[in-house]
Amino acid sequence: MPPVFYYHPRMLEYDFGPEHPFRPERLARCVELLSRYGIVCEDPGVASDADALRVHSQDYLTTFRQVDELASSPGSFERAIEKVVDLEASPYFCHGFLSGDNPPFPGMYQATMNFIAGTVRAAEEVRDGAQMALTLGAGLHHCSRERASGFCLLDDPAIACGVLREKFDRVAYIDIDLHHGDGVQWIWYEDPSVLTCSIHESGRRLFPGTGFLEETGSEFTALNIPLDPYTTGDVWLDAFRRGVLPALERFRPQAIVLQMGADPHFSDPLGHLMVSAHEWLEAVKDVKKLGLPLVACGGGGYNMESVVRMWSGAILTLSDIEFEDSLPEDLAKNWLMPRFSDPTPPGPSGEGSHSAEIAIRYIQEHHLKGMPTP
Ligand SMILES: [Zn+2]
Repeated sequence: MPPVFYYHPRMLEYDFGPEHPFRPERLARCVELLSRYGIVCEDPGVASDADALRVHSQDYLTTFRQVDELASSPGSFERAIEKVVDLEASPYFCHGFLSGDNPPFPGMYQATMNFIAGTVRAAEEVRDGAQMALTLGAGLHHCSRERASGFCLLDDPAIACGVLREKFDRVAYIDIDLHHGDGVQWIWYEDPSVLTCSIHESGRRLFPGTGFLEETGSEFTALNIPLDPYTTGDVWLDAFRRGVLPALERFRPQAIVLQMGADPHFSDPLGHLMVSAHEWLEAVKDVKKLGLPLVACGGGGYNMESVVRMWSGAILTLSDIEFEDSLPEDLAKNWLMPRFSDPTPPGPSGEGSHSAEIAIRYIQEHHLKGMPTP
């Protein structure tokens, strides 16, 4: 039996508008492609306040609802903000709702609950005994306990870690998105029962400006591999294997949450890593090979073409469904996307090894010595 794949069209309501890079079509296209390979979608239902309150504050949810109400009547959010005397002290500002990255839209509260439901239900499924449960979209790893950030209004991977902790004593979060998984890291930073691992383009110049080596969490259970811009996929994959995998071996998690951001790809417009679809999928396979109970969700990915083939390839791989490299003919023609693999290679190899070696050495000297073992 293939693992459950959670999806419902109401997840597409998480939409910041046509000008915003976070497009619901990414998810819709994946679902269409996956249906050709026999992947059946299961309705995850909707997430609830109780799910969100596992990691977010009541204060944050209250402000979130207020912003939604204001956004639902035209112009009223702007008018409400104009009346605020000290904007930086206002709850709108403090909770991240004035950032241009997350423009308020009507119905945003319920839309977010719909969107994160796939990850929450997948985590419940694994908590209740399934070996694996999958979804795409969401993976909203930038939202922290009290602050919306970077297109993320709630933090579903952090919630998933909380759900898994109900059954498992040690949970690992693995984040292969282009950007540092800051929200998840900060939410679990002081809790040594959750190991957060993130491999990403360095925050020196890229959003969210965090994810440095020295962010080690409680008992070295936050692990970061910040890589220089233009690091190539061979170096990226090698750093993942020599940094993240030995840490997992030492920590010995009993379950895993995998955030599958597809934006490390060399074609992605928001970043500067040079990872190929093939190399990225190798990391997904490495996680699968661990053989641990696994929840996988989506994440970033802003080149419509590469994100669809990478995510779909990941779901098929995790589901043990073999697939040819060429796409079904009609979809290939409609989407101008002939194959799962990259049409062009990413260029030279071996770039960025300096920052990668520094990170690996740091992990060997700190995490692999100081992290708790069961
Ligand atoms: Zn990202």
